[in-house]
Parts: sequence; C-alpha cells; structure tokens
Amino acid sequence: MYQLRGQRVTATSEEIIRRNAIAFCNVFGFKPKKSRRKRYDQNLESLSIYNITLNPVADLEWSAATYGSIVGHYDPHSATISIPEHIYIDACAGDRNALSIVFHEIGHLLLGHQAALHFSTSPAIEAEDAEWQADSFAEYALQYLGYESRQLSFEFY
Ligand SMILES: [Zn+2]
Repeated sequence: MYQLRGQRVTATSEEIIRRNAIAFCNVFGFKPKKSRRKRYDQNLESLSIYNITLNPVADLEWSAATYGSIVGHYDPHSATISIPEHIYIDACAGDRNALSIVFHEIGHLLLGHQAALHFSTSPAIEAEDAEWQADSFAEYALQYLGYESRQLSFEFY
C-alpha cells in the first residue's frame, strides 16, 4: 500500500504535472540555461505580477519559528510562499537545491493543493500525494531548465 507523505489531493498524472511545470517556466520566463551564470532574480520577482508572494524570511527568524524542521511553506489562501532568506539568495543564483525548494512550493500553489478532508475507503495512490506532485513539478521544471535530473545525479554519488 502506498504511504502518503502529504495531504491526499485529487490524483494528477505525471504528464499533466510536466505540462504545468513547463507552462509555468514559459509564463515566468524561466528559460533553459545556456550558461552556468544564469540568474533568476527577475523571474522570481515576476511572481508578484500574478499575485504570488515570495516571502524570504531572515534565517535566524526562520530557524527560531520552525526549529529548522522545514525548508519552505506555502499558504494557499494568501498565495504566499515563505522560504529562508539563504534559500532565496541561492535560488536567485541558480542553485539547483534552492530552486527545487522554491519550485516545490510553487507546485503546491499551481496544482491547487488545499487542505482537504478525505472520506475515502480506497487506499491512497502516489498520484494523489500532494508532496509527490510538488516534487514531480519541481523536477520537471528543473529538467526543462537544463539541470541534471535527480535520478542521474544520485547515480554518481
Ligand atoms: Zn510540500
């Protein structure tokens, strides 16, 4: 039986998630990188045009509030993504891990994940897992931008 990591949400296929991730990249001007020096400051700032708030929180304040247990948070009601400041800075600089955290939270927002109660007697499947969906969204966006896929990089470490 599949063990849910997050909320149980409407099942969404990998193909739909992939298309959403690529559409997101196109709308916000995240283009496949041609050089290692690509920065994403302006792309991340442009989220506000669509009323998505990216809220960097001072690192000390963040670790005091979260006890260092989480790296990102999204609030579906205010469309606000909060991340520690150092993750924001690294994401602007094109760091893969930092971008994957930001894209993961954006995935939650764009895939419409809301807190929901499920009275289902059927066992949950992977495609219904909000965390799996957000991870897949982030992976497809990173792949589109030309970052090495996570599976590949695991093989070398
Ligand atoms: Zn998540």
